[in-house]
Amino acid sequence: MIPFEKAFDIVMNSCFRTGSETVPFEDSLGRVLAEDVKSDLDMPPFDKATMDGYACRRSDLEHSLKVIETIQAGGVPVKTPSVNECSAIMTGAMIPRGTDCVIPVEDVEMISPDIIRFKGSFVKENIAYKGEDIRKGDVVLRALREIKPQDIAVMATVGHVSVLVSKRPKVAVISSGDELVEPGYVPDISQIRNSNGSQLVAQVVRAGASAAYYGIAGDNVNVTFLILKKALSENDLVLISGGVSMGKFDFIPSVLERSGVRILFSRVAVQPGKPTTFGIHEKALVFGLPGNPVSSFIIFELMVRPLIAKMMQSSWQPEIVTLPLGSDYSRRVAERMAWLPVIITGEGTAEPVEYHGSGHISALPDADGIISVPVGKMNVGKGEPVKIRRI
Ligand code: AMP
Ligand code: MG
Repeated sequence: MIPFEKAFDIVMNSCFRTGSETVPFEDSLGRVLAEDVKSDLDMPPFDKATMDGYACRRSDLEHSLKVIETIQAGGVPVKTPSVNECSAIMTGAMIPRGTDCVIPVEDVEMISPDIIRFKGSFVKENIAYKGEDIRKGDVVLRALREIKPQDIAVMATVGHVSVLVSKRPKVAVISSGDELVEPGYVPDISQIRNSNGSQLVAQVVRAGASAAYYGIAGDNVNVTFLILKKALSENDLVLISGGVSMGKFDFIPSVLERSGVRILFSRVAVQPGKPTTFGIHEKALVFGLPGNPVSSFIIFELMVRPLIAKMMQSSWQPEIVTLPLGSDYSRRVAERMAWLPVIITGEGTAEPVEYHGSGHISALPDADGIISVPVGKMNVGKGEPVKIRRI
């Protein structure tokens, strides 16, 4: 059994990059940007009105002004207001030459259809100047960020319609166990539904990778070998759940070896997740995850998700909130690092949820996060600050 931190380092040090590809910018949400995006223009591209009103000279505001034209957004001013003249102007339209402010329509009194008078007090120019937001050639988005909707707006603005992003790692999900039936079926008396398959696929997708589900391998060595072989040849990462503990049918580690996988660890001092197995193949990495659904969920979050992020060069980090523990916690053995699901209460404390062990899948939906208790620590007192890792 190796310490969790050591296992984590082995996983991260085995990481390889999945490369990059060009995609239409509209399809890049959630992807990892693999280039710096530069602007091909100044923004605003011209001095523009930020209010509907009248463009004029500040020095003329005491006088009545003659309206000489109306400039719409998208239109080009034809006339140049001179002394005691102005142009009606709409938000987003080009400021006519010779003017230095826009007085808002709300602050204007109409004397006649083409004569106005400023009745407010001057606050600001209401002009956005050419290049004040972005200069041509500026880097507007730096590589390695995860692309958000607001980034897509920036790419649209600067005309960056094809964008270089990290390739999504291809991740295979395989379930093992003769007791499993797929969720759409009613299990026989000795069966249960396969929850790890769909859970892991969802976790892979949430991590930004692409998931391929390879079905239930049963507890059949040859079937498992064939599915594993196919999955290893088609993916960057293979996740097989179940069959890694000490039972008679827990032969996943030996099938992995038979498939050419070099196993780097197969027991980790973490609870849940002790039987977690990890290995490397020619072009793919493999996890043998524990069958218990809470274990597979937590080990994915702790080890697989950071690995997927690193494969994509993503700067993703788990979200951590520190709060006092709401009630005393204790355990009888402390040879493994423990992870417990907790709820964040209205009082701002972390309260462990009712949790019967790693098979208790329905304990997770209510949990806001998980907290860890280090090796050797038996008790965590009420009020002690704990780091909640959001799930
Ligand atoms: P194993 O790791 O194969 O010994 O399985 C440990 C426990 O997890 C057993 O109770 C299994 O029935 C259960 N289990 C294994 N695989 C799955 C799965 N895909 N979905 C739900 N439970 C599972
Ligand atoms: Mg099993």
